[in-house]
Amino acid sequence: TFITFEGPDGAGKTSVLTALMPELAPHLAQAVRLTREPGGAAISEQIRQVILDPQNGAMDARTEALLYAASRRQHLAEVIQPALARGEVVICDRFVDSSVAYQGAGRGIGEEAVLAMNQFATAGLTPALTLYLDVPSAVGLARIQAHRTGQYDRLDQEQLAFHERVRAAYLRLAQAHPDRIVTIDATQSMTTVVAACLAQLHRFFGS
Ligand code: C5P
Ligand code: MG
Repeated sequence: TFITFEGPDGAGKTSVLTALMPELAPHLAQAVRLTREPGGAAISEQIRQVILDPQNGAMDARTEALLYAASRRQHLAEVIQPALARGEVVICDRFVDSSVAYQGAGRGIGEEAVLAMNQFATAGLTPALTLYLDVPSAVGLARIQAHRTGQYDRLDQEQLAFHERVRAAYLRLAQAHPDRIVTIDATQSMTTVVAACLAQLHRFFGS
């Protein structure tokens, strides 16, 4: 069973997943594997390094989208598919929805085009359940400014507009796929968000 977590920057995905895993695993019969893109697959990491290299600041948006899709493909082939084939529950921090939101809407190359390219990359593997941690862009970015240094030191209107396009795309995805995507209000306390995610997972598994 394939499950993904999604959300804009500062939604708290990583912290929520870390808190949630020890609570979830004992309740499930299957083994649960937590992974994140690029997921410890060596080739995926190398591709990710190319994307993140500040020397490549002028990277073309379609190049970036292709590299994310290539990195995702390798992670899927090396890590996700084998675990699913063993009958494990795989929980992945970010997947195709991130590219639709960040590259498709954020970088403006089109949500449909990015989705089509990722359908090729994933051969159509779609999560059975996606928990979308929703947070307004200004709140998410303020959280990150408070907790990390560097990346968002100079938060300007252009960055805010980018993140607002990302969030708007996530909200459109959630509306378009109500059977797959469950929206969680991630402005709530960490404890409340973790409990809400666990409740959704127990509902999904009937556990
Ligand atoms: O998941 P996490 O928040 O650690 O993602 C790291 C960064 O990578 C995010 O801040 C996001 O801006 C960026 N990203 C992206 N396109 C994706 C996935 C992540 O721009 N498809
Ligand atoms: Mg994170």
